[in-house]
Amino acid sequence: MEAKAISLWTVDGKGSVARASGSHASLHRTPPSTEPTDPTRPHGDPDALRYLVAGGESELPNLLQLDSLDEKGTAIDGLRDIALVQIPCPAQVKAEACAVTAPIRAVADDIDKLHPLVRRRSVRAKLGGALRLHGKGLQDLVRVTGPRRSALGAIERYRTKLRFVFVRASPGGAPPVGGTDAGAARLALQTREQAGSLWGACGITFEGGPLRMEIVDPPPAHLLSVGCGHGLPASGGTIRFLADRKRFAVSIPAGTRPDAAARRVAQALRARGLSAMVFDNPRMAAGAGGSSDITVSDRRGKPIALLPDPSGLSEDITMRTCIGHVNLEDGLQHFGDIDAVVGTLEERTLLRAIDDGDPQTIDVVLVPGFGRGGRIGESFIGADGGTLRNIVVIDRAGIRGGRASFTLAHELGHVLLDDPGHPDDFGIDTPTRLMDADASDPTAFGPRRLSIGECERALRQSGPKAPLPLMAPWPLELLPR
Ligand SMILES: [Zn+2]
Repeated sequence: MEAKAISLWTVDGKGSVARASGSHASLHRTPPSTEPTDPTRPHGDPDALRYLVAGGESELPNLLQLDSLDEKGTAIDGLRDIALVQIPCPAQVKAEACAVTAPIRAVADDIDKLHPLVRRRSVRAKLGGALRLHGKGLQDLVRVTGPRRSALGAIERYRTKLRFVFVRASPGGAPPVGGTDAGAARLALQTREQAGSLWGACGITFEGGPLRMEIVDPPPAHLLSVGCGHGLPASGGTIRFLADRKRFAVSIPAGTRPDAAARRVAQALRARGLSAMVFDNPRMAAGAGGSSDITVSDRRGKPIALLPDPSGLSEDITMRTCIGHVNLEDGLQHFGDIDAVVGTLEERTLLRAIDDGDPQTIDVVLVPGFGRGGRIGESFIGADGGTLRNIVVIDRAGIRGGRASFTLAHELGHVLLDDPGHPDDFGIDTPTRLMDADASDPTAFGPRRLSIGECERALRQSGPKAPLPLMAPWPLELLPR
């Protein structure tokens, strides 16, 4: 009898039938919805799959078992005794009899799994892992990947590297979260996994490598900003300050622009054995021109504190000069609409000391808190054209907010999408979208969803073909036996 072997197939939302072993389960992107009733019709869900068993009428199992495995092959979740309903076999399945399951959802976490609408047919799954289906006379693996269909084809799996930098409130103090260094490392791991669980819906993970993490003191006042404020040219004067117990007096002719003045200062510093780097800031919304920053360090790269000369930093009445200070005890002064592109002086002083110059890693900077309430995270992205990019700043509340807020996943979204905007900026409130600006619902209908358009945009803006790739393909590896 030819129908002896039982075969397993998948049926997607459009009704396409494929061999289970060559098919992929994609992590769920849409909120819970009611179960479709007619098993012979396309169920319409872009991610869920029905599993179809085919074989001789008397051999078909009545129930299927499902184990969800991570990529080490360890079971992380499962569904027991999944009901099978007999249907006529689809055209491409040559068998005496066929039966299908309800559409099964592979989801990121318990919030999605335990919602009453979908509880019966949802299983926690991990990008790069697999769903192992078994029943009477049958065992098959379906790997878990990103979306099966997109304008750019199937999205299997990509990885993005993160570097966590925890900034203490004061030198030698405790890390901003976690209590101890070990506690901070645990939180970093958890947060990285949690952000990845949502981005897994686009086939993107942040977990493809060991945790990179540093705990650092706030930097000294190592940054001098020329043209701070409005970026106006000089009326003529002298910039006077102290660095490394040396006195500096750099004369600036009338008409000099901040970028040229900054280079004069840098030259003076280098001439006396110090390292100086110049960064030209883009123009602020209200500024006449851009300011330029100079960071000062010793030969080994250790930032050096700057002090204004007792007679004053500069007497120039148009081109102002400022020294940046980081004081996290009163919160980090964060950018507003006017200086969003440039960052505040305090932010630049902090972030330029932290930046390791690796443009293909996203720096995740954790600070004790932001000044002026409300904000818990912000991002510096390439589209802004600033000299700070691919940096996310999160405060204690953004981490403590935990699963309810997904602050890191949201801010990473700005960087990967290279877009400072939010879908609700245009008046359409979509509180289930991860990139919604103001949603904070801790349920399965909270801000946690990524659209297929966002997955495609992340791949275009930050994928391997982008000018500055932040995502590298990470092909699936064979599961250990
Ligand atoms: Zn945002």
